Amino acid sequence: MPAQIIDGNAIAAKVKEQIKARTVQLKAQGRVVHLVAILVGGSPAAEMYASRQAEACKAVGIEYELLKLHDETTQPQAIAAIEKLNHDASVTGIMLHLPVPKLLNEAELQQRIDPLKDVEGVNPANLGFLVSSKPLNIPCTAAAAFELIKSTGVNLRGAEAVVVGASEIVGKPVALLLSDERATVQICRSATPDLAGHCNKADILVAAVGRAHLLGGEHVKPGAVVIDVGINRMTLPDGTKKTVGDVDFDAAREKACFITPVPGGVGPMTVAMLLQNTVRSAEAAFARKS
Ligand code: NAP
Repeated sequence: MPAQIIDGNAIAAKVKEQIKARTVQLKAQGRVVHLVAILVGGSPAAEMYASRQAEACKAVGIEYELLKLHDETTQPQAIAAIEKLNHDASVTGIMLHLPVPKLLNEAELQQRIDPLKDVEGVNPANLGFLVSSKPLNIPCTAAAAFELIKSTGVNLRGAEAVVVGASEIVGKPVALLLSDERATVQICRSATPDLAGHCNKADILVAAVGRAHLLGGEHVKPGAVVIDVGINRMTLPDGTKKTVGDVDFDAAREKACFITPVPGGVGPMTVAMLLQNTVRSAEAAFARKS
């Protein structure tokens, strides 16, 4: 029987309902969840993404502010803008739209965001909190992948998990989250020989690479949970373009028990996790003040 599809849109919608209930409760106490997103320079595509984000925030009762910095912003100016937001008590969350102009040091800017306000979980301090099993803001995509795994109800304790890809925002934090559930976790990377040999022993298989259809049916253990984080543009034989994941969905679905589609899996859940981090950060800030 083909795998059950994990519907990221439906699960994200439920999370957003819960978030909205929390912001309504906070508003009743006179407390505003206030996210500031920094956009340096900015293309029409980045502006469109920011306006979609603004809509997503508004829908759940989060006040969203876009701070636009001009193209020629220097590193010290960008840092000064972040520091100002760090010290502004009315700002409960901060995020930086990527990419930033080439002259700026993206990693340094992310490190300057106060970890308590870092709602994307991109400050390495937040990965550190996860390492010590005391997570603060979990990187959104990793949190999304993990929540989708948990939504299946499969027992993670003692399960064999393989995470393909080791980025700081996806692969490594997903591996840590699974390990904290007492799964036995392997991280596969570009130098891993016999990728299929590792993957096809996995009860939980997470693909976070960025290579269209890297994993096929031969990589999937019968009955596995397959989470596809990849977003890739693929040109079909007729010349049309399609967004696909790192997993060959049709082949993997024949063997897996649960599988996420691309699009409609991890993507929408990532947005929900950003909103969740934003509300959680605000609640923690309000609790510290009271
Ligand atoms: P990344 O920083 O480029 O990392 C890719 C990882 O894949 C690296 O650790 C690399 O290993 C590994 N890798 C590359 N080729 C491999 C191979 N042949 N076999 C095994 N591992 C290999 O990517 P990322 O930022 O984590 O993103 C991964 C994918 O997720 C991309 O498609 C991205 O668009 C997507 N994504 C989706 C969302 C969402 O909201 N759904 C959010 C973020 C990212 P080495 O380091 O050893 O080279």
